[in-house]
Amino acid sequence: MAVRKIRKIGDPVLRLKSKKVENIDGGIFKLANDMIDTVTRGEFSGAGLAAPQIGVAKRVVAVNFEDKPQIYINPEIKILDNKQVEQEEGCLSVYSILCSIKRAKKIRVIAEDLNGKKIKLEAEGMMARIFQHEIDHLDGILIVDHLSGKSKREFLSKINEVSPG
Ligand SMILES: [Zn+2]
Repeated sequence: MAVRKIRKIGDPVLRLKSKKVENIDGGIFKLANDMIDTVTRGEFSGAGLAAPQIGVAKRVVAVNFEDKPQIYINPEIKILDNKQVEQEEGCLSVYSILCSIKRAKKIRVIAEDLNGKKIKLEAEGMMARIFQHEIDHLDGILIVDHLSGKSKREFLSKINEVSPG
C-alpha cells in the first residue's frame, strides 16, 4: 500500500485510452490499494481518482464519496437524464484549478468490484459528476477539454502560472 504521485497535465499517460481489465489479479489488487491510499491519504486527496492519474492506463477508478472509498473496475456509464448541470469541478491532474463544467444530471454506472462481482448503481448530483469525471480520465479526457473560448484560455493561463514546466 502506498500513496502514489499524481500525474499532471502534459504527462502522456493522461491522454491514453485505458485498457479494459481482463483479469482481476494481484497487480490489480495492488493498484486498487494504492489508489485508495492516494485518494484518501494523499497530499492532494480528493473525491475520485482514475488509474491513469497514477500512471497506469487501465480502466480502474476510485470514488471517495462521503469518505467511503470504492473501487470500480471497467466502469461504463449510461445517461439516464441528459439535462446538463453546470458546477465547479477540480482535478488533481490539473493543479486543482476549479472550472465550471456541464455534466449529465443522472446516470447509471455498471462496473465490477475487486471480486469480479457486477456493480450496478444509479447516481445523481455530485456522485454522477464524479463518475463522469473519472471515466473521462479512462478515455484520455481532462476537464480542460470541456471548455472552449474565453473560459479555456483563462484556464490554460492559470495552468501556465502554476505548472513547473
Ligand atoms: Zn481528474
